[in-house]
Amino acid sequence: MSPYDAVVIGAGNGGLTASVALVQKGLKVLLLERHHVPGGCATSFVRGRFEFEVALHQLSGLGRPEKPGPTRFLLDGLGVTSDLEFVEMTDLYRVVVPDGIDLVLPADRHTAVSVLQEHFPAERDNIERFFEMVYRLSEQFLAVAVFRDPQPSREKYPFLYQYCFRSAREVLDEYFGDELLKAVLSVYWGYLGISPTRMAFVYLAILFYVFIEFKPFHIKGGSQAMSNALLDKFRSHGGRVRLGCGAQRIVVEDGAVKAVITEKGDRVDTRFVISNASTVLTYLQLIGAEHVPQKTLVEMRGRRLSASGFGLYMGLDCEPSQVGVSASTSFIMSDPEVSDRPTRQMHALDIDDDLMVLSCYDVADPDFSPPGACQMSLVTLKFGEPWLRVPPTEYFRTKYRVADAMLRTVEGVHPGLRGYIEEMEAATPLTHMRYLGHPQGAIYGFEQQTKDSLFFQPGRWSPIRGLYFAGGWSGDCGFQATLEAGRAAAQSVIRKIDA
Ligand SMILES: Cc1cc2nc3c(=O)[nH]c(=O)nc-3n(C[C@H](O)[C@H](O)[C@H](O)COP(=O)(O)OP(=O)(O)OC[C@H]3O[C@@H](n4cnc5c(N)ncnc54)[C@H](O)[C@@H]3O)c2cc1C
Repeated sequence: MSPYDAVVIGAGNGGLTASVALVQKGLKVLLLERHHVPGGCATSFVRGRFEFEVALHQLSGLGRPEKPGPTRFLLDGLGVTSDLEFVEMTDLYRVVVPDGIDLVLPADRHTAVSVLQEHFPAERDNIERFFEMVYRLSEQFLAVAVFRDPQPSREKYPFLYQYCFRSAREVLDEYFGDELLKAVLSVYWGYLGISPTRMAFVYLAILFYVFIEFKPFHIKGGSQAMSNALLDKFRSHGGRVRLGCGAQRIVVEDGAVKAVITEKGDRVDTRFVISNASTVLTYLQLIGAEHVPQKTLVEMRGRRLSASGFGLYMGLDCEPSQVGVSASTSFIMSDPEVSDRPTRQMHALDIDDDLMVLSCYDVADPDFSPPGACQMSLVTLKFGEPWLRVPPTEYFRTKYRVADAMLRTVEGVHPGLRGYIEEMEAATPLTHMRYLGHPQGAIYGFEQQTKDSLFFQPGRWSPIRGLYFAGGWSGDCGFQATLEAGRAAAQSVIRKIDA
């Protein structure tokens, strides 16, 4: 095949934004994706009359047109905003602890504070102080990590220096005495895949900040609509995509990228590769450990894989209100203790008081499903390793046993839901492993524990000349972070070409 300026491996969020940013600069780019549809996690699938959203519960960082956030600026820059319709959600989340508490936290700072103060009057002042700190910390974090103040200091950024490397549990303990309140405020750990005892507090703070300031959104047509729009934009600029054709090897000579060999056996000469595949697969399988500096391999070995997920995708023959669902996003928490127990539960095959998130897209967007119907996804976090030990002959039995346990939990909150299910599909960590190609189906790259959090991440750079990374394995995970990572990787390549 004729040479390309750059080859992008993987059409997940990071691969797609990287591809568009490269062709916008007039580069000749080939995008290889092993799956037949673009998007990676940002995708959908069809069962019966339902098109199920796979991953996106809430899009962060978008903001309204009159107060745009970083995600909107990014999508504007890539020229796809006008091709998409966004649906704003009014609430951060509903949190339900059966026999404990049931509250809805609005996506507005002052109302959220009031709701919490009503439920926890003894913590009134602490709640106010906590949100003030969350805001100051987030602003200080942005000043240093995003706007790159060249001279940060403890005096300028006291909250950042005080809380940056502390766990969510430690900071919540400092502010509150009520265990239930701590649990209510830490449920976003379910979006980060790591228990509050090990999660860097700054991640929790940033989530509150971006979702309150820029509101949570969903996309009409699901995240697949965004993936399709990005791919269309790429093609319209002359980019070439091969779906159903993965990369098999990256040819490295003298420490530099020379070519990519596709699964079909074609050799594509190029000096630049942006990999949206995991760093594990890229270094060990596509390149080969012999070409990777020892230091990089040691550093990678020191990291732990994140959790994967177990998800139920349900198409219901009823309106959400008929089963008592009035929030777009509900966290169902059977065990409200903020402890290390979630880590143990995530490593177990079966369900035992696991935190679950129930998303119903039809609440904010009544046209999401066919008239009179709605769809919901129910997701909990599970590591892939126990699933790899399930004998193939036991796989389906195990999968439906876990699905049944999850349905029992959700029916404790929404009685009768099961009776309305018209279509249902279950995805295990092995499903994510199969569709994403990530080790053990990890959906958040490497675990983002406090000592591995943002300031220690390897970033999009690699020690192999011409190789860059885009996506959740070289930085933070989630839609906002991975969309941004792709553009940043493309900018690095463009700078190199221009140099
Ligand atoms: C169930 C679930 C729920 C989630 N909920 C949310 C949410 O509400 N909000 C949020 O912000 N985030 C959420 N996330 C996380 C978010 O979806 C991911 O962090 C993000 O989409 C990952 O993007 P990525 O760029 O890293 O690529 P990925 O989505 O990981 O895609 C990688 C792509 O690379 C391709 N690939 C791999 N190997 C090769 C190869 N050799 N050749 C060619 N192609 C290859 C894969 O097929 C895939 O398409 C969720 C994820 C899941 C699974």
